[in-house]
Amino acid sequence: MSHKLLYYFGGKKAEGKAEMKELLGGKGANLAEMVNVGLPVPAGFTITTEVCTYYYKNKKKYPGELKKLVLQALKKIEKEMDAVFGDRTNPLLVSIRSGARSSMPGMMETVLNVGLNDITREGLIAKTSNPRFVYDSQRRLIQMYSDVVMEKAEGLEPEEGKGIRHQLETELQKMKTARGVKNDTELSADDLKELVDIYKSRIQEVLGKPFPEDPMQQLWGAISAVFSSWNGKRAKSYRRIEGIPDEWGTAVNVQSMVFGNMGNDSATGVAFTRNPATGENIFYGEWLPNAQGEDVVAGIRTPNPINEIGKSEHNRDLPSLETAMPAVYKELDKFQHMLEKHYRNMLDIEFTIQNGILYMLQCRVGKRNGPAAVRMALDMYKERLITKEEAVMRVEPSQLDELLHPIIDANAERNSKPIARGLPAGPGGGAGQVVFSAVDAVEWTKQGKKVILVREETNPEDIEGMRSAEAILTARGGMTSHAALVARGWGKCCIVGAGSIDVNYDERLFSADSVMVREGDWITLNGTKGYIYLGQLPMIKAAEENPDFVKFMELCDKSRRMKIRTNADTPEDAAKARAFGAEGIGLFRTEHMFYGKNSEQPLFLLRKMIISGTEQERRAALDELFPYVKSDIKGTMEAMDGYPVTIRTLDPPLHEFVPNREDERKKLAESLGITLDEFDVRADALHENNPMLGLRGVRLGITYPEITEMQVRAIFEVTAELINEGKNPFPEIMIPVVGMENELKDQLAIVEKVYNEVLEKFKMKKINYLYGTMIEIPRAALTADKIAHYAQFFSFGTNDLTQMGFGFSRDDIGSFLKDYLSKKILPVDPFQVIDREGIGELMRIAVEKGRSVRPNIKIGICGEHGGEPSSIEFCNSLGFAYVSCSPFRVPIARLSAARAEITVMNSAPKPKKKISKAKKTKKRR
Ligand code: PEP
Ligand code: MG
Repeated sequence: MSHKLLYYFGGKKAEGKAEMKELLGGKGANLAEMVNVGLPVPAGFTITTEVCTYYYKNKKKYPGELKKLVLQALKKIEKEMDAVFGDRTNPLLVSIRSGARSSMPGMMETVLNVGLNDITREGLIAKTSNPRFVYDSQRRLIQMYSDVVMEKAEGLEPEEGKGIRHQLETELQKMKTARGVKNDTELSADDLKELVDIYKSRIQEVLGKPFPEDPMQQLWGAISAVFSSWNGKRAKSYRRIEGIPDEWGTAVNVQSMVFGNMGNDSATGVAFTRNPATGENIFYGEWLPNAQGEDVVAGIRTPNPINEIGKSEHNRDLPSLETAMPAVYKELDKFQHMLEKHYRNMLDIEFTIQNGILYMLQCRVGKRNGPAAVRMALDMYKERLITKEEAVMRVEPSQLDELLHPIIDANAERNSKPIARGLPAGPGGGAGQVVFSAVDAVEWTKQGKKVILVREETNPEDIEGMRSAEAILTARGGMTSHAALVARGWGKCCIVGAGSIDVNYDERLFSADSVMVREGDWITLNGTKGYIYLGQLPMIKAAEENPDFVKFMELCDKSRRMKIRTNADTPEDAAKARAFGAEGIGLFRTEHMFYGKNSEQPLFLLRKMIISGTEQERRAALDELFPYVKSDIKGTMEAMDGYPVTIRTLDPPLHEFVPNREDERKKLAESLGITLDEFDVRADALHENNPMLGLRGVRLGITYPEITEMQVRAIFEVTAELINEGKNPFPEIMIPVVGMENELKDQLAIVEKVYNEVLEKFKMKKINYLYGTMIEIPRAALTADKIAHYAQFFSFGTNDLTQMGFGFSRDDIGSFLKDYLSKKILPVDPFQVIDREGIGELMRIAVEKGRSVRPNIKIGICGEHGGEPSSIEFCNSLGFAYVSCSPFRVPIARLSAARAEITVMNSAPKPKKKISKAKKTKKRR
């Protein structure tokens, strides 16, 4: 390999830096950066992600020169730390940790205390005069190493509860019981020494080989195991869920150990520069005295709060680091401020205190949930730490979605008494049926049930189940435990460390004081407060009332170019969308007035019109229908006053509306003065073999011009009336399912005729409106230049365009889509995310051809894709005037449109500094 394989960090200088995440992984790059800004970091080196890729491509072999480079780097660490790896009097111990480009908390492996064996431990005891600490470190090494290197990396998959780590933990438990103690820390040096021997013989028994004593063998075993863990089950599942490519690989960090378990002046901890669950600008964290590495995150002991301000009702009696070690806390607080300023982001940091001396072991941009992301973005913008564009880019559309998620109805909550409390690790509300295993969570969810996964403690193995569950509840663990971290990253409601619940996996139940909750029972969690309720409490949406949400949306609006409209067919939906910030309606589906609430009479009249035998009969039925259509349109246009409203003429095949029930058919026959037999003959005549490609959309208006006439008359009359009432209406008449210019031309003649008649009726000179079409048939896209002669606007109907472009029925794709996705024939569902390569190409052609004839043609989208972030980005790149989506997706669309535009701005070449006038140039169109 030609590239540099290994990067050293230590002392005052590191070879890497923060920008090198792709090569060094997040952990390696940030360790280097911390060294470079002058923080105390134990010396070490990072083996690059390229080595990982090489390793997998070459049957798990390393590049030839790696061995030599590792030895050289080890020598440098030895010099820096003044200790020697494998030395019998002054031994250096190292940790081996994974570090992917994007953080995968708890998904890959770590081995600590590598280099310790029966010989080096004697040297360490002599050096530290602390035998208890040394034996404890050795038993931890054996526990971790046997699990990670000797079992997992070897591909062994023992049954649940039979894994080596579990067996060794049972030995530890036995020892504690025998000594009559509760905590590991209460075991003596002799106890631990004995445990080391017990562990070793257990390993020989279970795995059939001895624990390796040679430090070099330990080192390489651990390095290989970390590389192997990239393809471990957990890591693969996590990557699939998070969309992290398999090719990225992990880096491996080998770093000199520092010890948090050297006694009561030693400790370990994890902290966030701001509260990751609420976003509050408060240094927030947890620590454990006399503990090592994973103790805080693994949830083995419920950790202490880092400072007084971060205390809650759950941990107020535990000592904070601020009071227990004030000088160290002060230094840590200084470092966290320094780091946040340097990175201009909220960071998640790990530290260890060894005999009163603070070391920084990790920093990375901290995961946060949606509400916290929004709050931090706003605060950091206000603090001038970041620009408004950066603030917008700090919130992912999916995180904003979390703010739109439900919380428990406050009234219902007031009247309920919690059965237990825990730490509020992931806010919002969640209600579901209790399950006790990740497998059940996945299974029950597949059956369409809502579940809450209840576990004794947090375990990264449960990743798939955690993902499926509505919410997660654990009896143990702190706010930085794996469950909390992962749930927060997903914006999931989560409560951890609910100490008063007692989980019994065998009986499939948990008890909370005197209450028994069995598998399948409903519970409700308030993840914002940490309260657990029995039963299913009602939820409400809260976004519109959240001041942070409103302010953040305003910030987004300053950065976006495209308008955001909504697809709404009722005044209520229009009002809801307005409240979410919609700037018009991009699709009013006329046919929706014939479904649902108050639709009985208009539906009856529509059916009468459909079954009519002559134009005269049809016109009579349409006349009766007319006032209903008018009032329906008027309600929605009033709710959107001042904004454009795109009203689409009738789209679906008429026979969809013909009733099956005999009483309804009889009633209709009577109203038309015909027999039931005659009715059935007429209804049968409407039957089509392939209705989606049959008499629908513009074809209805061509076969029955009076249908278009009635609808257009309703639109213009409503507009005229609203103008007379002092309102500001702006209708856009849209013709669906158009494939040819002549169709549009034909309908235009009707529109213009009715327009003139309405002007005359209302004695008006002009009514502002637009006439345009949907582009939803591939032929329309390919002939958009011709169509543009008659269309003042195009609105992409990407539902049908995808259906007809792929030849996939939008109603039947469910039966085969999963196979297309699992076989990677399709990367995603094309009905959700625009297929840029095919359907997107049709769109691009249509845009280009449309503009070639009518340069200012208004272009938008009203298919479902109009509310999907990646599709919105694509529409922005084509210079669309707007996207239109369902009311609840309007906020996501506002954010996505802003992010799309900022991305364009960021990638545009920067103007040279001296042309200061550049600032004054016009905005992009
Ligand atoms: C479309 O086809 O994308 C569209 C918006 O119309 P409908 O879903 O009503 O067919
Ligand atoms: Mg359509």
